[in-house]
Amino acid sequence: MNAPARDFVGYGRSRPDFEWPGGRRVAVSVVVNYEEGGENCVLEGDTHSEVLNSDVAGAVARAGRRDLVVESHYEYGSRVGHWRILELLRECGLPATYFAVSGALEKNPEAARSIVDAGHEVVSHGARWIDHDGMPEAKEREHMVRSLDVLERLCGQRPVGWYTGRVSANTRALAVEQGLMYDSDGYNDDLPYWTDVRGHSHLVLPYSFDCNDMRFASAPGFDTPDDFTDHLRRTLACLRREANRHPAMMSIGLHLRLAGRPGRADALRDFLREASAFPDVWFCRRRDIADFWRSRFPAGR
Ligand SMILES: [Zn+2]
Repeated sequence: MNAPARDFVGYGRSRPDFEWPGGRRVAVSVVVNYEEGGENCVLEGDTHSEVLNSDVAGAVARAGRRDLVVESHYEYGSRVGHWRILELLRECGLPATYFAVSGALEKNPEAARSIVDAGHEVVSHGARWIDHDGMPEAKEREHMVRSLDVLERLCGQRPVGWYTGRVSANTRALAVEQGLMYDSDGYNDDLPYWTDVRGHSHLVLPYSFDCNDMRFASAPGFDTPDDFTDHLRRTLACLRREANRHPAMMSIGLHLRLAGRPGRADALRDFLREASAFPDVWFCRRRDIADFWRSRFPAGR
């Protein structure tokens, strides 16, 4: 059993005081999830249709059958949402990190090239967008290697970061085994941290389910586009205020089929334009945070 130990203490009262590059105090990581085509579907050999994270309220798993309505909502993400979000990032001049499911990006190679050409980072979000809990270790390793190989072929660069989402007890140890620089399968801090994996110090860049458009597809969750951006504004306001004493990082999670819808993208645009004008805020790729952390706080290694 490789299950990570729990840590209820973390940095505690001694959160580090430092400055992000350029003297900034809050690092903001925009994460765009590219998942469309990687979700559960009987056409892919899965046992049931997808139920999660779409605008189809109360979707139920159909054993052995397709759900054409859910499928179509997913297709909106790769057909339309992707290009809208990409343009929004370009317009705002912001770098992002894409959590890319390799089996999804494989179905739309032009999208893969567009992400790389725009200078964004591609992190592996697994070979398929499925639950890895209980997956045999050998099978999960095989999925992981395949995902990294496919993304390297599609993007011209092997990812250095990992994010599974629905992890198994083995996921982190397998990411270490693959030599990945960091993973984001953690939600338990506002700062990167080192953690021990079988005697090896491994870097975790925590992610967030609260500053995440997935809440448009959950109950209770966000209703109007402004619910989401109000939450983002509050989060950034709190972190900037606290940053007088200790800096922090903030993750914003987006999904092409959710935030890529026009009404939500419009509100997001307002927020991003506003936030990127703050002189103390550093919009960056997660890899930039990982590089910085390794040089500034190498003690854990
Ligand atoms: Zn995801």
